[in-house]
Amino acid sequence: RPKVGVLALQGDFREHLAVLRGLGADAVPVRRESELAAVDGLVIPGGESSVMDKLSRTFGLAGPLKKRIAEGMPVYGTCAGLIMLADTVLDAINGQQSLGGLDITVRRNAFGNQLDSFETDLSIPELGEPPVHAVFIRAPVVETVGPKAHALSTLPDGRVVAVEQGNLLGTSFHPEMTDDYRFHARFLDTVRSRTAAAA
Ligand code: GLN
Repeated sequence: RPKVGVLALQGDFREHLAVLRGLGADAVPVRRESELAAVDGLVIPGGESSVMDKLSRTFGLAGPLKKRIAEGMPVYGTCAGLIMLADTVLDAINGQQSLGGLDITVRRNAFGNQLDSFETDLSIPELGEPPVHAVFIRAPVVETVGPKAHALSTLPDGRVVAVEQGNLLGTSFHPEMTDDYRFHARFLDTVRSRTAAAA
């Protein structure tokens, strides 16, 4: 059973824990360095990225998180979690930083007032059929995809909302709020193949 964590400083970490457990993983909340050291992969949930960033530094987790990401730990970030994984963040507030790792630029709250929150079906070739029902809540958008990362999905207007780069996966939207867990399953597959390769 893959042992994975969900960063539990803030945001909808409980929903991710439930999804991962439902998929057969041994999933635990991560709030401190010793808990991070015990997991083979991490989900960074949705929430408020500026608060999550601040708490990660207050709890002494930002440094250890960056180190694990650089060492190749599989990480899946949703929404605020995607922002945490982006190398560059536009419209950051309160001196917010990111952990980085994904060679992308994201813009926070990119959909403005009227489209603050919305749902749509996205076809994602890597995940096959049917399309993924995507829930966006004050979501970021990926404005630039650098050469190391690649886009998994775009909206009809061409804006990128899901990316992958090696062991890192990120979505602007919230699969944990639907009943389609193919992104979580893809993350767990990455964790399994990495731990198998290390054994
Ligand atoms: N707007 C939030 C942020 O900038 C993200 C929203 C979400 O995670 N649902 O961090």
